[in-house]
Amino acid sequence: MSAVASTSDLPSPAVLLRAFLRVTLDDIVPKTRANVAAGSKVFGASVHRKAPGLEVVTVGTNTETESPLLHGEIQTIQQFYQIPRDERPEARDTVFFCTHEPCSLCLSGITWGGWNVFYYLFTYEDTRDAFDIPHDINILEQVFRVPSTCAHESSSDLAARPLYNRSNAFFTSASCADLLAQVADDSPEKDELKALWQEVRSVYGELSGTYQANKGDKGIPMA
Ligand SMILES: [Zn+2]
Repeated sequence: MSAVASTSDLPSPAVLLRAFLRVTLDDIVPKTRANVAAGSKVFGASVHRKAPGLEVVTVGTNTETESPLLHGEIQTIQQFYQIPRDERPEARDTVFFCTHEPCSLCLSGITWGGWNVFYYLFTYEDTRDAFDIPHDINILEQVFRVPSTCAHESSSDLAARPLYNRSNAFFTSASCADLLAQVADDSPEKDELKALWQEVRSVYGELSGTYQANKGDKGIPMA
């Protein structure tokens, strides 16, 4: 296994970003809207063939009203592996996309599922601050971030340590902001992609408001 999973077999950043924003608006949001109305969270995901053109293989959204483990990514992984073997691409020949940076459960799910690359739209900080859902960061800090035994590590060093390895021997991950930053400022695609992203932000602002207003007591341990 190499030190860091490669992304050399992927289309350009602009092509990737457009595909992720479009699948969000066209496929993920309608499903999310239905599940949020029932009390589930706003998280969704999709799987795309790397070649020839990022075709959508499956799309899933959070279904926590059924089980607290059915996060958007886990639901999507389950759907992917329910596709008959002879019709299903290998996970390594596909790209995983998450509307939100995956939590510890979903990071493990993506790894165990065989994906070597994933992208996400909203960061952990967005999820905590704009969506008012703090569990991703809390769980990573409380369960996984073991303080160093080195005497020289201060509490601020500990706090500054990344919450997971964003590029490692299993996968390479990046945010959609990273993709956008790689599109040249003078490219005509940049404004188009920024406008599309703004449309996505506005829809998620609305979905988040609905979730927070309706979540009530649906039996989800971490609502
Ligand atoms: Zn998750």
